[in-house]
Amino acid sequence: MNAFEKTQRFVMNTYRRHRVLFVKGEGCWLYDEKGTRYLDMLAGIAVCNLGHSHKGVLKAVCSQAERLCHVSNLFFTEPQAELAELICKHSFGKKVFFCNSGAEANETALKMVRHYGVSKDPEKCEIIAFKNSFHGRTTGALSITGQEKYRKGFGSLLPGVKFAEFNNIDSVKRLISSKTAGIVVEPIQGEGGVVPAQHKFLTALKELAESADALLVFDEVQTGIGRTGKLFAYQHYRVEPDVMTLAKALGNGFPIGAVVAGKKCADLLGPGLHASTFGGNPVSATAGATVVKEVTRKGFLEDVERKGRYLKEKLEQVVADFPFLTSVRGIGLMLGIVCKCSCDTFVKKALEMGLVINCAGGNVIRLTPPLTVTVEEIDLAVKILRKVFENHEG
Ligand code: PLP
Repeated sequence: MNAFEKTQRFVMNTYRRHRVLFVKGEGCWLYDEKGTRYLDMLAGIAVCNLGHSHKGVLKAVCSQAERLCHVSNLFFTEPQAELAELICKHSFGKKVFFCNSGAEANETALKMVRHYGVSKDPEKCEIIAFKNSFHGRTTGALSITGQEKYRKGFGSLLPGVKFAEFNNIDSVKRLISSKTAGIVVEPIQGEGGVVPAQHKFLTALKELAESADALLVFDEVQTGIGRTGKLFAYQHYRVEPDVMTLAKALGNGFPIGAVVAGKKCADLLGPGLHASTFGGNPVSATAGATVVKEVTRKGFLEDVERKGRYLKEKLEQVVADFPFLTSVRGIGLMLGIVCKCSCDTFVKKALEMGLVINCAGGNVIRLTPPLTVTVEEIDLAVKILRKVFENHEG
């Protein structure tokens, strides 16, 4: 049996996979088992921000793995301490909790929000989330995910969650009350189709959260770690949340999640209230510390902003030439091409032509390349995309 057959036979059938077997990655390039190479403009869904097999991350991780892989959080370890300090140094954060994924980070944030509210009033445990949002697949994260296609089939989820319209502050005003313990929002809705929040919306959300004494949570699982041209997307908006969740790119492919708490709630969760066996383990935390140091290196983020603007401009030129494409949206190197039709066939065609992209929200082609992508690689990606659209009869 080959890897395709074994996967089909032994791995639960929860993913709609493309029939491609990747065996190697280098920078922005992926290689299949036959040696065919693919230009990766997805980066494992905004994960490998420093590109595949980044030398600095590999060196740090291998050296840490040789010394110590795991001891549990019953003890202290250096990489975890270093990563927490780095995250706090570069953000509003005062303290960090480490876990393993975006969903787990959001579960933690939900517990923080509920504990914050319930400690003040047992009735204060409502949460406002947004339609079209995505926060992960665990039961709590699903409870604040505002898309029916992910929620259906699992019975009743967490009570007390209300969904407002994204970018519509009046819809939040209608739902908020003294019972609201927290508001959870993505600064750019990623899975929902790369939809950026408006500045005035996030500013007003912060004011509303403060007036209701509710925690404002930004889910930066996808937007964090330089993706938008700033280390964190909230820095574009100049609106500081009380809590921020991270995962994806933090480990450049090594699994790690984090919950960053500001001063209002840094000491909210005391001993015994929350835990994670693997959370912040030495190997993943070493990857995280290397990533944060590299992304905050002088000139790195300015370069991301520059390349983001360049890619957006190029894509806008492409969009202007095809009637079935509407617009380009997003910030930095988190961009979406909005199509008038489903974009599944474009994604499939691009893969056949050696370009890796994906589809978000049904009709948006998402591009989240490694932040280390070169201008030549951007030009090549745009050239292939143009060919994909030229072949389309629509
Ligand atoms: N939050 C956001 C904004 C995401 O985009 C995702 C994943 O796409 C998640 C949470 C869930 O992260 P994970 O798949 O690591 O649980």
